Amino acid sequence: MSKEKVKKYPVPSVRRLPAYLRFLYELKAKDRAAVSCTHISDELRLDPTQVRKDLAITGIVGKPKIGYMVPELIDAIEKFLGWHDCSEAFLVGVGNLGGALLNYPDFKKHGLNIIAAFDIDNEKIGKTFQGKEIFPIEKFQNLASRMHVKIGIITVPPKHAQEIANIMIRADIKAIWNFAPATLNVPENVIVENVHLASSLAVLSSRLSELYK
Ligand code: NAD
Repeated sequence: MSKEKVKKYPVPSVRRLPAYLRFLYELKAKDRAAVSCTHISDELRLDPTQVRKDLAITGIVGKPKIGYMVPELIDAIEKFLGWHDCSEAFLVGVGNLGGALLNYPDFKKHGLNIIAAFDIDNEKIGKTFQGKEIFPIEKFQNLASRMHVKIGIITVPPKHAQEIANIMIRADIKAIWNFAPATLNVPENVIVENVHLASSLAVLSSRLSELYK
């Protein structure tokens, strides 16, 4: 997704789109031709007005009494998210998390193809992991430039995250998916999306303690 899209459209709406897609894929599998906003909102426990607004960012408008045609809506959301064209990515840090991400086969369905990985550990370098070769980090810049890779994934310990981000910036990486708990300094034209399982867990545990206090 381009920075323009992230800026122009509300990020929470963009974040909900994959959940709509999951539900729409289920409907498609059941050969449902159309779906209403209310049906989607009931299923996902969201406000129908919110659902309508979220879907409108893809440019699709529902028809009165019919709602949305399921295949059209799927197509519009996938196009908006850029899932029709798979972007190639490099991952740095093939440990527990990096290995799990390399192992996950469905990123391709979500427009992401991790084509190679990098590490500093000589035990890992040169090996192939899930069909992806692990290169020494020193080769990142050269390979990324030659292969025109624009997405970098950081799964190294936090104290090394900025140094890896700097390598990525020098290699003209435009989007960084950062899993390390570190705040990265990047130029304005580089997008950083931070992933924090801990934040999600914090919501879960605070709700749990609220429920049972
Ligand atoms: P790990 O120690 O198993 O793996 C780290 C890998 O990075 C190792 O293979 C190591 O050799 C490599 N590495 C270290 N420094 C490097 C460098 N300078 N260049 C290239 N490779 C380097 O760690 P892990 O458990 O996989 O965790 C990885 C990161 O992900 C950590 O920052 C951790 O805090 C974070 N993490 C985030 C979440 C989340 O929700 N976002 C969840 C779990 C872990």
